[in-house]
Amino acid sequence: MSFDINKIRSEFPILNRQVHGKPLVYFDNAATTQKPLCVLETIRHFHNQINANIHRGVHKLSDESTQAYEDARETVRAFINAKNTREIVFTSGATASINLVAFSFGEAFVREGDEVIVSEMEHHSNIVPWQMLCERKKATLTVLPMNDNGELMVEKLDELIGPKTKILAVTQLSNSLGTITPVKEIIALAHSHNVKVLVDGAQGVKHDADVQDMDADFYVFSGHKIYGPTGIGVLYGKEKLLEVLPPWQGGGDMISRVSFDTTTYNDLPFKFEAGTANFIGAAGLATALQYYQSVGIEAATRYEEELLQYATQRLTSLDDIRIIGTALHKAAILSFLVGNIHPYDTGMILDKLGIAVRTGAHCTEPVMTHYGIDGTVRASLAFYNTREEVDRLIEGVERVKLMFG
Ligand code: PMP
Repeated sequence: MSFDINKIRSEFPILNRQVHGKPLVYFDNAATTQKPLCVLETIRHFHNQINANIHRGVHKLSDESTQAYEDARETVRAFINAKNTREIVFTSGATASINLVAFSFGEAFVREGDEVIVSEMEHHSNIVPWQMLCERKKATLTVLPMNDNGELMVEKLDELIGPKTKILAVTQLSNSLGTITPVKEIIALAHSHNVKVLVDGAQGVKHDADVQDMDADFYVFSGHKIYGPTGIGVLYGKEKLLEVLPPWQGGGDMISRVSFDTTTYNDLPFKFEAGTANFIGAAGLATALQYYQSVGIEAATRYEEELLQYATQRLTSLDDIRIIGTALHKAAILSFLVGNIHPYDTGMILDKLGIAVRTGAHCTEPVMTHYGIDGTVRASLAFYNTREEVDRLIEGVERVKLMFG
């Protein structure tokens, strides 16, 4: 291990909490991650010393606030290797970013009879906005299926894509299966048919977020899943595409001139940022990205991979465990079932032992339908988790088996 786990854990105060009289084991990182002290300090400092609305004031505080917001945009640009900051739109999160594209791209390019492709393993937030678009435009939603290991059947893409296909939306990393999808291959294939691709990076951004390397047309993620604050997210779009898309929401900041006869819109990226932006969230996100880079993304990812291997090996050494999501390329998300015990019961007992896991469909009902189940227990690990915590999970599962077995 190339980083100091004790030092890292000391930077996340919440990890010292007791839950039901036991030290907290936080294994719900795919739902939201914890925030290091430096992020909390950025938010505190902003409120205490800077707080002022951006892009509007002539006064010092507004200047500093605007500067911090635009610096955050540059930090995000560098983090995902976008060409320039005109391509970085701040939103409230991945969901808002997808809705923005589904609306604006839909308005500009999707007509009656056209097709939109999503994959079977998408989060609801990368399904429903496209369904709404298809309903609005009388277009068709087509599904790229997955196999029983939870891997996308990319070989089917050639026959799924037709002359009417306009856009394909796919996750980079499944939140319920842990599958890392071959986005680069999918994008190359889609582009060979002149189809645009939106990549949902909500989970994947922690591992590989080079938008130029993957050649994504749109890339979205949320701050709160990468050690940043809630209520802030990012839409990356290729500049040429964003330029031709109509605005999503109207309001302050997104306009150039307003009169009752005509309104003209602001330049990129402001055209897509109506209303008072979450400038404090943006600053917090920038700190989170810098912090994560200082930890070392490769080292953190490798550490999580080792932890996943350990957890998988320990869990599967127990009887009656069914792992849901056995893709060859997986990140540290472990979805499982314990015999016929309802995931909710497993989750409740684990909670009493201080272990936070997620239970249910994880906003991926089509994935559950694929496996003919209602839900799973999901342990999602982060670089601040430890083998000892995995051991506590295994003990907890053994306890569950004893109680319900
Ligand atoms: N996509 C995936 C793969 C996710 O895991 C999530 C959050 N669980 C989202 C999209 C939506 O993110 P948010 O709720 O932060 O908008």
